[in-house]
Amino acid sequence: MALTNQYLLSVMETVKKRNGAEPEFIQAVTEVLESFEPVVEANPQLEALGIVERIVEPERFIQFRVPWVDDAGKVHVNRGYRVQFNSAIGPYKGGIRLHPSVNASIIKFLGFEQCFKNSLTGLPMGGGKGGSDFDPKGKSDMEIMRFCHSFMNELYRHIGADTDVPAGDIGVGAREVGFMFGQYKKLTNQYTGVLTGKGLSYGGSLARKEATGYGLLYFTEEMMSCMKNDSVAGKTIVISGSGNVAIYACEKAQELGGKVVALSDSNGYIYDAEGIKLDVVKQIKEVERARISVYADRVPGSVYTVGCKGIWTIPCDIALPCATQNEIDGESAAILVKNGVQVVAEGANMPSTPEAIATFQNAGLLFAPAKASNAGGVATSGLEMSQNSMRYSWTFEEVDAKLKQIMIGIFHNAYDAAKKYGKEGDLVAGANIAGFEKIASAMIAQGVV
Ligand code: NDP
Repeated sequence: MALTNQYLLSVMETVKKRNGAEPEFIQAVTEVLESFEPVVEANPQLEALGIVERIVEPERFIQFRVPWVDDAGKVHVNRGYRVQFNSAIGPYKGGIRLHPSVNASIIKFLGFEQCFKNSLTGLPMGGGKGGSDFDPKGKSDMEIMRFCHSFMNELYRHIGADTDVPAGDIGVGAREVGFMFGQYKKLTNQYTGVLTGKGLSYGGSLARKEATGYGLLYFTEEMMSCMKNDSVAGKTIVISGSGNVAIYACEKAQELGGKVVALSDSNGYIYDAEGIKLDVVKQIKEVERARISVYADRVPGSVYTVGCKGIWTIPCDIALPCATQNEIDGESAAILVKNGVQVVAEGANMPSTPEAIATFQNAGLLFAPAKASNAGGVATSGLEMSQNSMRYSWTFEEVDAKLKQIMIGIFHNAYDAAKKYGKEGDLVAGANIAGFEKIASAMIAQGVV
């Protein structure tokens, strides 16, 4: 769908002029603005108050040098980023990504999407994101620690429990969050919930590790039940990635009676017709930090194939992309549809290209966009912030029950918002609109700031 509204067209033109070298950011803004058309047409004050041109411009963008020393004594310099995108409804909140592909475009697309996702959770969290082009692969624990400490040496002055609360993302798990938290505490002499995804011994929340993957399945189950009178039970499922989101999506999918037959990493994918043995995957990925190919050496009958794109040629009922942005292109989407996929729910951020989304929507299957279906991680981070403020911890069951309710609520908010604006069943539009309405209303109330 192309934009037709003159106001949105002019905002888009400015975004392209200002951020021309940032394709991922432009892709994310384009998708979101397309959804806003009926809202902007129904509410002229959004244009009068310049809400959309304000929402596409980050409140603050920080870039900094991250020098660190490797085990051989050699000095390296990476580039660090933090975008503080929108604080209308709460402190900035969003993960930190460590991956060689990280650049300003990736950080801004993630920060922009995060604003609407956080709004959808119903919790008081604004949108932010950060990261670095540092590659954690193959680094020793001491090298990771020196990098994380150096990263925090600059970041600490921009964040705070009531200002900006970072968390994990690709390449950042409990180990990295621990190193960053330790350095923040050292530099500020304050023990606050300034990061989420912390270890349980120093303020972390039970169920945070599982939250994004579990939440994805809670959303999928509710969507299938309400829109198709169906469920995950008995379905064949393909999940890309084998990191935090993929592993816990796999765990909950299996608990709900689904059969997960494939997982991947950035080198290739494994196929196990008997169903993935998750204990083997956890040992390989969480304990040994090894490649997913090792699974095929350990599980007789499973097969490893080099190259990650091929995973989408495996016939399945449900596809859960949980690796990275733009991992399903138009061609892969067409193959999935030809092979009879019925549900696609995004665990990663923006894993489907615009062509892939159009293919899924034209095929009439159920499509859950990331900012709704993967919001369980940040929602549970919000619950971690609440527990830190109360100096109290809920049980795993309490957090998990709240997570489930939040995911069910997000589905209905997105579904209802789409229906309200004549786009029933279009959860892409519904998620964007529901997230936007709350932020816009807060921005209107706060005036031009
Ligand atoms: P992890 O670092 O734990 O795992 C990422 C997985 O994706 C790894 O298996 C990795 O393989 C694979 N991967 C990374 N880059 C590529 C690539 N270019 N092509 C193919 N595979 C790739 O990250 P998470 O599981 O935490 O995050 C996965 C996605 O989910 C990201 O899009 C993230 O933004 C999103 N997300 C994460 C949340 C969380 O709570 N963790 C919350 C919401 C969204 P390899 O080991 O080879 O790099």
